[in-house]
Formats: sequence, C-alpha cells, structure tokens
Amino acid sequence: MKQYILSLDQGTTSTRAIIFDKNSQIIASAAREFPQIYPQPGWVEHSPKDIMGTVVAVTGEALVRAGISASDIAAMGVTNQRETTFVWDKKTGKPVCNAIVWQCRRTAEYCEYLKTAGLSQTIYQKTGLVPDAYFSATKIKWILDNVEGARTLADAGRLAFGTADTFILWQLSRGKIFATDYTNASRTMLFNIHTLKWDEELLSLFDIPADMLPEVKPSGHNYGCTDESFFGSPIAVCGVAGDQQSALFGQLCLDEGDVKNTYGTGCFLLMNTGDKAVKSSNGLITTLAASFGGKPQYVLEGSVFVGGAVVQWLRDELKILTSAEESEKEALKVKNSGGVYVVPAFTGLGAPYWDSDARGAILGITRGTNRSHIIRAALEGIAYEVYDLVEAMQKDSGIKITRLAVDGGASKNNFLMQFQADILNCSAVRPKIPETTALGAAYLAGLTAGFWKNLNELKKNAAVDRVFTPYMSEKTRGELLNGWQKAVRHTRGS
Ligand code: ADP
Repeated sequence: MKQYILSLDQGTTSTRAIIFDKNSQIIASAAREFPQIYPQPGWVEHSPKDIMGTVVAVTGEALVRAGISASDIAAMGVTNQRETTFVWDKKTGKPVCNAIVWQCRRTAEYCEYLKTAGLSQTIYQKTGLVPDAYFSATKIKWILDNVEGARTLADAGRLAFGTADTFILWQLSRGKIFATDYTNASRTMLFNIHTLKWDEELLSLFDIPADMLPEVKPSGHNYGCTDESFFGSPIAVCGVAGDQQSALFGQLCLDEGDVKNTYGTGCFLLMNTGDKAVKSSNGLITTLAASFGGKPQYVLEGSVFVGGAVVQWLRDELKILTSAEESEKEALKVKNSGGVYVVPAFTGLGAPYWDSDARGAILGITRGTNRSHIIRAALEGIAYEVYDLVEAMQKDSGIKITRLAVDGGASKNNFLMQFQADILNCSAVRPKIPETTALGAAYLAGLTAGFWKNLNELKKNAAVDRVFTPYMSEKTRGELLNGWQKAVRHTRGS
C-alpha cells in the first residue's frame, strides 16, 4: 500500500518538498533556497538549472528524512510561483535563457503601450487580467524578440513555453509531459478563462506560435509519471496548481463565498466565486480556481504589495525590531496606536486605489508617540490594507464575508489576527498546518489518485489552530477606519 502524498512547492525564493500521510499530517519536509538574479534595476531572473537542482534535491531529502522510497508515494502534487516564464528547446531540453520572474518589470513599458492602444478591455474580457508585466505573455514575447536565435527556433516549432510547473514536469518526465493546469494558464494573459482555451487573437497580438504552449488540464488530473531515473521509481503527478489557488484549496475554501488571505511579503486575498466569473469594478482580477474538471470554478483576487514586508522594514531599515516575532509583544505594550497610522504604500497603492504615485507615510505623530505605537500602527496598517481589499471584494461579488481563512508568515502574529478580525468585524481562522500552499497540491493529487476518498475525509483532518472573533465596538471601528481613510488620502500622488 502506498501510504504517502508528496507535495512539491516551487516558490519565488525557495523550493520545498513535504510528505503528508493519510491524516494530512506532515511526515517530513526539506527546503532549499536558490539565487535571485538581478541583471539590471527592475529585472529579476532565476536560473532554470538552479531550480531543477533544488527540485531534485529537496524531493530526495524529504524521502530520506521520512525513511521511505519513491515507491511508497501514492501521488505527487506540484504548486508553484505563478507567471514566471521558462522557454526551452523541445529537442535538447535546454532553456534559451534564464526564467523571467513575475516581479521583473522589463516589459512594463510595453504594457503601458497596450493600455494606451486601448487593449485593456479586450484583455480583461478574455483573461480576467489587467495588462501588466507580471503576467507571462509579454515576457514570452520579450524572449522571442530579444534572445538571439529564439525567434528562428520558435518558427521551426522547436521552442516550448511553460510556467515553473510545466518546466518541472517536462524535465522530470524527460519530455513526456508537456502540460499545465487551468490556474497557471490563467496567469499567462494568453488563456481565455471563459472558453478554457489558448486565445488565438492574443497569441497573434503577442506574436507567439501556438505550438509553444502546453496542453491545459484541470488541476486535479493524472498528468503522467516522473522518470524513474530521478527518484528510483516513477511517481504519478496527479495535481498541479499555482501557489495562491493551491492555498485556497489547501484551506478548503471550496464553496462560493469562501475567502482566504495569505500574509506573506505581500498579501493575497482570494474569494471562491463558484462557477461564476465575477467582473470587478474595483480593480480586482478574475482568475480560475483549482478544480477537477467539469464546470470551471472562478476566483476573485486582490493583492497588497507590502504586507509582512513592512515588518521587515521596521526590522532592517528603521531597526526598531530585532525580529518579526517581536512585533507582537511590542504592539501589545500599548493599548492603541495613539492616533498613529502607518500606510505601507512603499511602491504605490494597489486595489482599490491603483495609485502608483502614492508613497508610504507615518501620520499622527505626537510628543507622546513611542516605538510601540509605531510598531503597532505598522501591523494595523497591514490589516487596514486587507480591509480595503475585502470591501472591494464584497462590492464586486455582492457577498458579505463572515469568515476569513488566514495563512502565511505574518498570520502567526496573534495581535495582527485579532486586529484584523476586529476591523473586518468577521472571524479570522488560522489552521494548524500553516503550509496551506503545499497542502492544496497534496489534496489535489491525493483526491485524484483516490488516496483520499472525498472532501469530507479532508475536512475531518483539517484542524483549526485558533479562531479570532471580533469584539471591537462599532463606534471604535468606525473611528479607526475614518482615521485610516484620512491617512490614505495624505499619501496619494495627486
Ligand atoms: P513569503 O512566502 O512571501 O516569503 P512568508 O509567508 O514566509 O512570506 O512570510 C514572511 C513575512 O511575514 C515577512 O515579511 C515577515 O516580516 C512577516 N512575518 C513573519 N513572522 C511574523 C510575525 N510574527 N509578525 C509579523 N510579521 C511576521
């Protein structure tokens, strides 16, 4: 009997392998960081070779730590940093250049051109996305237009494009699997999220040959097996999903109206909107959820650029914290922020403001303001940013959010979670297993392989660590939110 599920989480700064048992418990894990490459300001790359090195190493390490072999793995799930673009030669398997990472701004100017050329509406209607350098399409075009010999190889039908999932599956299967899933495809800006097909009009707009693109499958699907030369025995890959959609699945937010927020460097708020693709009037994007085929499931997504990163800033730049964890104890030393607001708009404000000229600010300082007030106000600033996103999401979806599933590094902060629950006036629920991203891919793989029979089995396993219930008065909440809105106005570019 194969008793374990392997989840491979290929993130932006590290790759992690986690082995889960039938009770959704972690048996062993291994993680490795890899270098970030910054060829010039605003550009970010990853070496595909480095990434494959970490994939093979962490999988091997996790198996050794668990004391099992690949033949004990019932199925494997893959989750990954989204949008990052790999292009390689189908004949040799060699990448034509480094992967262009989602954060890379090299195609920002071209995206501005797309907007001024009036293409935003067409792109939004087909893909649910606003034209931005994050998404893969303009990165692929950049490679074909700028890497020597790439266009000729593409014209000869030799090149393959993929996000990290596709590249890893192609390599691990020695070229047998050339596929991606709906969630990853929906972040390329080439995939029509309504017809579930690569969009010919967009392919011709970006001048990308259709034969470069992988087949698109549901997230829960039997993709094929890894080549036995890697781990000793073949492992069946039965789940693939982009990191945020995987976390939504890992939180078991599977019904219409279910919402999760991840508090990492930035914050990612995702709402399951069932089989309806909800259009946003508030600057959110519409994307596909992880599912098992049948009717597609949709998600509304909003993000905050600076979330936990404001805590890093307090620690590394202001040097008023020695660790991120210390922020909780400091915040609790004062009974409120004393009228201080920190607006973490370091790189502008995202949804619902979309003001790239806004900049961060500390407001409301008096002679009595101390370090604890500023630390507390910075944590509260994260919660207010998430409040703004939640408001936008409620307006777009017409659904009142009453429960927020939380995860990510900063969700460990009990003060922040309590303040979030208070300011949203809804409960915040933190699961026992914080690795929800890896868990989502494991669930997808395990359900597809029949390792877990159904969702009820998973729901029984899903233990809650803590529920934060709101207890702030309506009056206080209103006053605090008024203050926040005033503070945001002060930071606006115009
Ligand atoms: P990512 O996946 O984006 O690298 P993580 O989920 O690992 O992020 O979370 C790291 C972020 O969370 C950092 O920005 C860090 O400052 C913040 N963080 C970690 N622990 C705490 C804490 N106890 N309180 C507040 N912020 C925290």
